[in-house]
Amino acid sequence: MDFQQWWLLVFAGVFALGWITARVDLRALLSESRTLPRSYFEGLNFLLSEQPDRAIDAFIEVVKLDPETIELHFALGSLFRRRGETERAIRMHQNLLNRPDLPEDQRLHALFELGLDYLKAGLLDRAEETFRQLQGSLYGIDAQRHLLEIFEIEKEWRQAIEIATALQQAGTGSNQARIAQFHCEIAQTAINESRLDDAKRALTDALAANRQNVRALLQQGDIAVQEHRDDDAIVSWKRIEQQNAPYVSLVGDRLMDAFSRLGRGDEGLKLLRSWLDANPSIDLLETVVRAMTAAHGVEAANDVARQELHRSPSLLALAQYLDTRGQLALPTQEDRGDLDVVRNLLHHHTRRLGRYVCTQCGFKARQFYWQCPGCSHWETYPPRRTEELEAQK
Ligand SMILES: [Zn+2]
Repeated sequence: MDFQQWWLLVFAGVFALGWITARVDLRALLSESRTLPRSYFEGLNFLLSEQPDRAIDAFIEVVKLDPETIELHFALGSLFRRRGETERAIRMHQNLLNRPDLPEDQRLHALFELGLDYLKAGLLDRAEETFRQLQGSLYGIDAQRHLLEIFEIEKEWRQAIEIATALQQAGTGSNQARIAQFHCEIAQTAINESRLDDAKRALTDALAANRQNVRALLQQGDIAVQEHRDDDAIVSWKRIEQQNAPYVSLVGDRLMDAFSRLGRGDEGLKLLRSWLDANPSIDLLETVVRAMTAAHGVEAANDVARQELHRSPSLLALAQYLDTRGQLALPTQEDRGDLDVVRNLLHHHTRRLGRYVCTQCGFKARQFYWQCPGCSHWETYPPRRTEELEAQK
């Protein structure tokens, strides 16, 4: 036998092997398909003809007839949850968990899915209890992430700190900024309830967790004001400028009030104007214009507004300028009327430009938030109004 004949034999052998394998597969498939209930194919048909509701009914029939179809249980369960039919999802996963023969990994999977169902249904206590059972398992880390979500919704900040720390130790990335915010939340509750010593301790913890946290400095100032230590409040708020300058726009009004109470209004105004020069911002401009009007009259305030309008032109700055301009004497009654029309039009238009906006989900709000009410992310609101942010792009 020469070389070429050898090759022919090898080729024929490989072909025969392939043919046998294909037949065996085909047989297995045919015997499997014979064991599948009719409803399964009906379900598939409905899915293909885009009738999802009828498909679901057919698949439920399969699950009833053939309880072995574990994967189908999971698929239907998460489908129900996504469609907001949480009761059906819960029942589907509980049925799975009630099966004594369910392998351990599938049991954990079903438990995790059940936790998600409870969370979606807003049954937070049950969700918490379910996720707690998964601690230390294959689903432990994901369960902890959801526990953190639950504690944030429930405003259980101490438990949130515990879980966020544990997650961080498990190597899921830094949670320090978030932990600092949790301490700030604890401090805010204490400030509201006039437990100032508790608040101070919480803020020390916040700054220990994240030295860059601006909110803690802001709150330290608020506490100092409550304790009639305006000087200390000013020191805390000045530190914001060194830490993260754009955020000074959030404390302009409080800073000016503290200076005024100390009888040092001019000093306060000078500081605010230097901040405004370094960090143009509508919020700061409003504060400066208000303080300027009180200290030196409308004309001086109007000068500031005009300068600012020329330096960083925007509709919000224009509205601010026209507000002070309108308070100055105008030559005729008609002029005043014209100005009022322009101002009203402008105010109507700038209302939507003067919002804070979340960089994560785009949720807009009139008020500044440390945690977005839309997507629950922390520190996603820049201290700037919509129009200012658009101008920066
Ligand atoms: Zn958001």
